[in-house]
Amino acid sequence: MTLDFLGNLQRTQMCGELRREHAGQNVVLMGWVNRRRDHGGLIFLDLRDRTGIAQVVVDEKVGAAHDKADAARPEYVVAVKGHVRRRGAGLENPNMPTGEVEVVADELLLLNESKTPPFSPAEDAIANEEVRLKWRYLDLRRVEMQRNFALRSRVAMAIRNYLVGEGFLEIETPFMTKSTPEGARDYLVPSRIHAGEFYALPQSPQIFKQILMISGFDRYFQIARCFRDEDLRADRQPEFTQIDLEISFPTQETVFRVTEGFLTAAFAQADPPIRLTTPFVRMTYDEAIKNYGIDKPDMRLPAMVSLTDELTPELREQLKIEQALPVLGFVIPEVGELSGTARKSLLSEVRAGFGDCGLDLLDVARLKTSADFAPLAAVIEAKLNGSTSQVRPTVEPGAPGSVADLMVVVTPKLGTPTMWNYDPQWIWKRVGQLRLQLGAKFADKHGRFKQTGTEADFKFAWVTDFPMYEWNEETKTWDAAHHPFTSPHEDDIKAGRLTSDKGAVRALAYDVVLNGTELGSGSIRIHRQDVQAEIFRSLGMSDAEAKERFGFFLDALEYGTPPHGGIALGLDRIVMILAGASSLREVIAFPKTAKAIDLMCDAPSHATEAQLRELHLRIAQRS
Ligand code: ASP
Repeated sequence: MTLDFLGNLQRTQMCGELRREHAGQNVVLMGWVNRRRDHGGLIFLDLRDRTGIAQVVVDEKVGAAHDKADAARPEYVVAVKGHVRRRGAGLENPNMPTGEVEVVADELLLLNESKTPPFSPAEDAIANEEVRLKWRYLDLRRVEMQRNFALRSRVAMAIRNYLVGEGFLEIETPFMTKSTPEGARDYLVPSRIHAGEFYALPQSPQIFKQILMISGFDRYFQIARCFRDEDLRADRQPEFTQIDLEISFPTQETVFRVTEGFLTAAFAQADPPIRLTTPFVRMTYDEAIKNYGIDKPDMRLPAMVSLTDELTPELREQLKIEQALPVLGFVIPEVGELSGTARKSLLSEVRAGFGDCGLDLLDVARLKTSADFAPLAAVIEAKLNGSTSQVRPTVEPGAPGSVADLMVVVTPKLGTPTMWNYDPQWIWKRVGQLRLQLGAKFADKHGRFKQTGTEADFKFAWVTDFPMYEWNEETKTWDAAHHPFTSPHEDDIKAGRLTSDKGAVRALAYDVVLNGTELGSGSIRIHRQDVQAEIFRSLGMSDAEAKERFGFFLDALEYGTPPHGGIALGLDRIVMILAGASSLREVIAFPKTAKAIDLMCDAPSHATEAQLRELHLRIAQRS
C-alpha cells in the first residue's frame, strides 16, 4: 500500500472533542490507529490524538477508503475525512467522552505506517518499566501519560502566571558554571579550550539568584533544571526541575505567602481542582522533632505525645525506667483489636528493631490488670486518646461502632544513653521512626493515606528555625546543615554562639513539608560579607579556600547587597502528587532509571578517542 501525502489537508477538530452536537458536521481528523476491528463490510478504527479517541467507521461501499482501512494497523498515522453521526441506539459507549458519536469516513489517508510496537499504547498499564523507558515515545502516547504532561504544563503555567502577577521576573542562569554547594556531587563538563579545566553543572541556581538580588532585580524566579550526582536512591533523578525564587528585603513571612500562593495556583490545576487553605501550619524544627520525631512531619496521623511527666520518679523506679529521659507515646488509629499472636509478633518486631539502644515498649494493656498501675494506664490512655482528635476526626473513640486504636508507649530502660551519635534528640527521632513504620504497616486499617481527591489529603506545614550546623562524626567537623549562604538567627550571632556553641545556632532556614515529604526548602541569606566570611571560617574553610571557590561571590557581596531570601520547590514532585502518580518518572518526559541511565538514548555512553583527545582526557582503567 503506498502512503498518502498530507498536502494542504487541515484537521477541523481534535478526536477527543467530538460530541453529539457535532452530528451532521463534516470533519477532518488526524491521529494514530489505537485499535482496528474488522467486521467484514465495516471496519472500525479507533483514532487517537492527544485529546482522546474517536470511533471511525469505514464502509466497504467507500471502496478506496475501505482498502486503506484494511491495510491500516495499530499506530499507523492516518487522516480521515467524513461526517459525524449519532451512534445507533444501544451502540453508545458511556465510558468514552466521544461515545455518543462516530465518524463515517468518505476518505482515508495513510500518512505513515508503523512497525508492530513492542507494546500497545492502547493498553492502560504496562508492567515492565524498562520496556516503557526504552520505547519512551510509545509510552508517552498513552492516555495517562498525555494527561500527566498536560497537567505538568498547566501547573508550570499557573505558577508562572502567579509569580509574574506578584512582580517576579523570570531570568535564566547558566548551566555551564562553577560548583554550587548543595551537598551533592557535581556533574562536570571538561573544557576543550582550557586543558584540564571543567565547568560544573549547577546543583541549583543558588549563587546566581543571590547575585541577581545584588543586581537589583528585586524578585526573581525560574523553573530551573538542577543537576546533582547523588548516590542511587529510589525516586531521585540526576536532573530535576525546581521552582526557584529569590526576593529582596523579605521577611520569612513574605517567602511563605508567595509560596503558599503559587502552590494554591498549582493545586487548582488538578483535575478536579484542589482548593488549599492558607496559611499552612507552622512549627519550629524543635517542635517538629518533639511532636513527630522528624523534620518533615506527616500530620495525617496523630502526633506523638509526651508521657514524661506522667511517669513520675516513683513509677519509673518501680517500672525500671531511666529517670531523666523522655517517655513518648503515639496512636495509630483504627487498627482494630489485635489477636494475642499478632500482638506478640508486633512486640517482638518492634523490640528487634530497637536492638540494644535501650528503648522498650510499655505494655499498657498489662498495666491495666494491675491495681498499682491501673491509674497510670488510665492517664496514658486519656492522653493518647486526646491526640487523635487533631487529625481528621472519624468516630469518637469508644463510641459504638468505633474501631480500636493501637496505642504505643516507648520507655527508656535503665542504662539508656542520653545521647546517641552525639544526638540528644535521638529518642524522639527513634520513636518518630517507629510511628511512621507502624503507620505504613497499618495503612490499610487506618485508611489515612487514601486519596479522597480533596484538600483533606494534603497536610502542609512550614518547619522553621533549623539548626545551622550538623556535626559530622566522620570528619569531626561542623557542616552547614543547609547551604553555607543561609543566615544564622540574628540573636545567635549577637550572643556569639557561632564560635561558642555551634550546636545551638539556629538558621533562618525553612522547609515546606507535605504529608511527610519535603517539597522545598529555603532561607533568609547572609547579605554581609563579614558574616559570610565568618560562616565559611566557622565551617572550617580557610580564607584562601573560600576565595578560590566563592571569591566572585564574596566580592559581589561587598557592593551593596540588599537583605534577601528565597526558596526552591521540586516541580516534579508537585506534579507527581497532583497526577496521583507513583514515581517521578511518570511526570518527567525522558527520565533516567535509578541507575542514572537514559534507556531510550542509551546514555551515558563512551566518547570517541578523538573527542577525548580534544578534551585532554584519558580513560584510566581501574583494576
Ligand atoms: N538552593 C536551595 C535548594 O536547592 C534552595 C534555596 O535555598 O532557595 O535547596
